Parts: sequence; structure tokens; C-alpha cells
Amino acid sequence: MRGRNARLVLLSALGLCLAAAATLDSQTPGDRAAGAAPARPARWYKGNTHTHTINQGGDSTPDEVVRWYREHGYQFLTITDHNLLTRVDGLNAIYASDDQFLVVAGEEVTSRSGDRPVHINGLDVQRVVKAHEGGTVVETMQGNIDGIRAASGVPHINHPNFGWGLTTDDLQRARNYKLFEIHNGHPSVNNLGGGGVPGLEEVWDRLLSGGRMVYGMATDDAHVFKQPGNPSVSGPGRGWVMVRAARLEAAALMQALERGDFYASTGVVLDDVQTTAAQLTVKVKTEGQTKYRVQFIGRGGVVLREAVEPAASYTFTGSEGYVRAKVIDSNGRFAWVQPVEVGRGASTAP
Ligand SMILES: [Zn+2]
Ligand SMILES: [Zn+2]
Repeated sequence: MRGRNARLVLLSALGLCLAAAATLDSQTPGDRAAGAAPARPARWYKGNTHTHTINQGGDSTPDEVVRWYREHGYQFLTITDHNLLTRVDGLNAIYASDDQFLVVAGEEVTSRSGDRPVHINGLDVQRVVKAHEGGTVVETMQGNIDGIRAASGVPHINHPNFGWGLTTDDLQRARNYKLFEIHNGHPSVNNLGGGGVPGLEEVWDRLLSGGRMVYGMATDDAHVFKQPGNPSVSGPGRGWVMVRAARLEAAALMQALERGDFYASTGVVLDDVQTTAAQLTVKVKTEGQTKYRVQFIGRGGVVLREAVEPAASYTFTGSEGYVRAKVIDSNGRFAWVQPVEVGRGASTAP
């Protein structure tokens, strides 16, 4: 029973829709309707979910911004102007192409509580969301998260350390979100923490260790497209997500993000990520003479295993709470694989 329970917990917690053989192996025959068409194989789509245009905060027109991403190997882009929903129908009429490129509507719902900024992206919102300002940071976060959900959007919490706005406790107390930025490409958002405030990867491990299964995003937060190569402005191409979905459609991308079927990157590309009831496996797409470390990380941010080969697996013991993977390359680039819950009872039992 214990093994079966552990397996069921794992399967339900992970939402193992990883689309490949591991998933099919995990299903019972009754899971698939007889005669159903075979599932379309999933693939990885590269996207940036945080971008500004001249409409509110950026230096370039939506057309120029979309063209930059289209021409730099991305398959999707979410435009997230501050408190403004930039229309994307016309952009998609020009730039979208089946399975090649898609612009997804969005808004950076931009508020504050006192002097603390509270910025939350609404991805694929169906209408503009009016920014909410509550009495506390958590009330402000929650009002905006709820507003984004009410507009059928997916909330992602932006740059928690910008203006030292959102603490781990705030992120722990806010509800009904799965995504938050662990890496934002803007040069002054304090990703790494300091002065006694934890960096965002440590914040992530604190949230996960506290039983919150949240997923880490890397984004550009690009505002400036007209100063290529200037590191002191928020230029494009610094952080992105690779999302595994069967189709390049907004709904499929949003569902994959919210079930954690993606990884975040600042340059490392993965050939594959597979999760079974027993293991998490990561395969790096190697590049030239670059070398790699693959870390498997569990409760408390503890490195459970570090592999030096570019294809590496970690076998669950059942008591980790969660396991996530991080790939570090010899040139300072990263990939962050989303956590999987392992032995839920172990992490949340009183
Ligand atoms: Zn912001
Ligand atoms: Zn922004």
C-alpha cells in the first residue's frame, strides 16, 4: 500500500502530463478512451512572458518588440505593459504562424502597498485588470491575483525583490498562484538578494519547504530594445521559459505553465526532462566545450546530488519533500527545472 500511495500522491501532485513514454507507462488502460486518436507529441516552445512596449514603459512599438523575439528564436511572447492590455490580434495577423510563433495578450498589473511595489503579470487575460491597492502587501497581491483570475488570466508574481517589495512570508500567504519570477533580466531588481534579504532561489526553496508548490520563471522584463549590448538597461534575451505543450496555443501554454511542465533558463538548453514515479532525469543539450553541473535540490535547498555528466538522474527516496534540478554551465548560464513533490506527507505533516 505504501508504495502505491506514494505513487498516487506523486502522480497526482506532479500532474504527470509530461507527454512522453513515462506518462503513458503511468496510466492504467482505463485512462485512455478506446479508439481515441493518439495524442499529438509535445514539444518545447521558447517564450518570454514579461515584456514592455512603448504603450507603457518600453522604448519600442509592439511591432518592433514582437519582431525582435520572432527573429531571435522564440516561439511565443507575452506583452505585459503596465496596467494596460496591448492588443495582439493585429500583431498575430502579421507574425503568428502555426506552431512557429504566437503573441499572447498580457498585462503587468502594477500596484503598491505603501512604498512597496506589487507587480503581478496577468498572462492571457481576456480584459484589462484594474490594479488593486489593499491595506497590506498580501491584500494587494491577493486583490490583483484574484482580478487576474477573474479575467481568465494566469497570474505570475514579478521580481519580488524589486524595491524589496515582497517577502517570503508575503509569497507564502498569498493564494491561488503557481508562478513567480526567480530570475528577471532587469538590472536593478535584486534577484540575488543581499543585506540579509534572501535571493529568489533561496526564497523558492523556503516556499517549497513550507509546502507551497510554486514554479520559478525566468523573464526579460525588457523595456529597452534600442541599446543592444548595454547591460545597465533592461534589454531582451536574458531570461526565458521553455514550455512543453502539444500545441502553440495560449491555453495549452498556460496549462503547461501552471502544471510546471517547463523549465526556466538564462542560456542552458535541455534536450529532455522526464519525471517518473521513481526518478527525475535531465538531459542537457551540450554546446561546444562548455561543461555542466546538474544539481538535484530538495527540502531546505539542500543539494541531494550533483552530477558532472550532462545527462543525469536522481532516484527519489520518498522523504525529500520535493526535488528540483538546476543546471549550471561553465560560462555562468543556468537552467532551472521545476520541482516535483515527493512524499507529500513528509513535508507537511504536523
Ligand atoms: Zn514590474
Ligand atoms: Zn515589467
